Amino acid sequence: MAAVLSETHPAALSTASATGSSPSSVAVSTAAIQANTSRMRELCASPVMAVVKAGGFGLGSARAARAALAGGATELGVATCAEAIELRRAGIEAPLLAWMLHDDAPIGAAVAAHVRLSPTSPAQLRRVVEAAAALGVVAEVEIEVETGMNRSGAPRAEWQQLFDMAAAASASGLVRVVGVWTHLSGTSPAQFSVPLTHLSDAVELARAAGLRVRSHAAASRAAAVDPRTHLDLVRLGASLFGVEPVPERPLGLAPVARWETRVSQTRDVLPGESVGYGQTAIASATRLALIPVGYADGISRRASGDEQSMTVAVGGRRFPLIGAISMDQSVIDVGDAPVTAGDRVVLLGDPARGEPSLAEWSSAVGTIPQEVLTAIGPRVARTEVGA
Ligand SMILES: *Cc1c(COP(=O)(O)O)cnc(C)c1O
Repeated sequence: MAAVLSETHPAALSTASATGSSPSSVAVSTAAIQANTSRMRELCASPVMAVVKAGGFGLGSARAARAALAGGATELGVATCAEAIELRRAGIEAPLLAWMLHDDAPIGAAVAAHVRLSPTSPAQLRRVVEAAAALGVVAEVEIEVETGMNRSGAPRAEWQQLFDMAAAASASGLVRVVGVWTHLSGTSPAQFSVPLTHLSDAVELARAAGLRVRSHAAASRAAAVDPRTHLDLVRLGASLFGVEPVPERPLGLAPVARWETRVSQTRDVLPGESVGYGQTAIASATRLALIPVGYADGISRRASGDEQSMTVAVGGRRFPLIGAISMDQSVIDVGDAPVTAGDRVVLLGDPARGEPSLAEWSSAVGTIPQEVLTAIGPRVARTEVGA
C-alpha cells in the first residue's frame, strides 16, 4: 500500500502531513469510493451526483470527486461556494452544484467558475442574476424548494414569485434554470410520499412559468429504500464513503477510511491506580499503551466510559480505551498483551478484518457515521491509496 501524501483536510496543518510526522493518519481508499459509487449507480435508475461537501466528508474533496466520477457519477454537489471553487481550482470540470448561499457567499466567483447555484429566495436569485450580468456569463441555477424539512428550501408561498423571476432572467439570457429540487427529511417510503407530491407541484408550477426543469430529491437513504425518489438524479454522499444507508440490510459498501497510529509508550500499573483526568478509571494490574490521538483529532470523549469503552485494534486483537480521552492523547488498556512502543494501532478500519468500523464508532459515541468521519481533526494526515 503506497501512501501518497497529497490533499489534506481543508484545515490541515500542511507541515505535519508534508513531513510525514503526523501523530496519526487516515488512508483514504479511492478504489473504495469508486466501487461504492458503481454499487449505488447499479441500484439507482437515475444519474448520480456525488456529494463531496465538507472536504469530501473530511477525506479530501478533489480525490473523492475524481474517484466518484470514475465510478460513474456524472455530477458533483457541495454545500458552499468556496468548496465548489476549490474543486474547480483542482481542475475538476464536471457539472457542480453548490446549494448553500449564506450572506457572504462568494456568488460572483462561483458563477465565474461555472458553479451551479441554488437560490432559495427571490433575494438570493437576484444576487445570482446580478453576478451573471456583471460577469457577462450565463449563471446556471437549480432551485431548492421546501417540502417538509423546514431547513433551507424556498417556502411554497414564494414559489410563484421565484419561478416568475427565474423565467424572466432566463428569457433575458442571464440564467439557465436547470432544475427544481428538494431535500427529504424522512427515512421511510411512507415519509417520502407527501414531500414528493409537493415537489411535483413545484415542478408543475415552474413548467407553467415556462421553465424546462428536471427534479431531484433523494440522498443515500431515500435512494436505497424508495425508487420513487430517484426522479432525474440522486444526490449521494454518505453511501459513497461507505456508510450503509440501511445498516440492517447492508449493500456491501466498502470502508473508505483507515485511521492508524502507533503506540508511543507503554507502562505497567498496579491495581487501584487511576488513569487520566478526573481519576474516573481505576485500573486492575495491567499494561497501558499511550497513543498520540485525542478528542481534538476526533476521538470523542464519549468513546471512553465507566461502563463500556470503544475498542481499537493492536496486533490483530481488540483492546478498550481507558480513562478520560485527553485533547491530544488517549490510553488503551492492553491487559497482559505484549504490546510495545511503535506497535501499529488501527482506530478505524475494515470490520471484515476484525478492525473497528465506522458503525461501531458511531454507536459507541452516540452519533451517526458521517459525524465520526467529519470529526477527524486537522492534525490527522490524509493519505490516498488506490486499488
Ligand atoms: C448531504 C446532502 C446530500 C447527501 O446526503 P447523504 O445522506 O450523505 O447521501 C444530498 N443533498 C443535500 C442537499 C445534502 O445536504
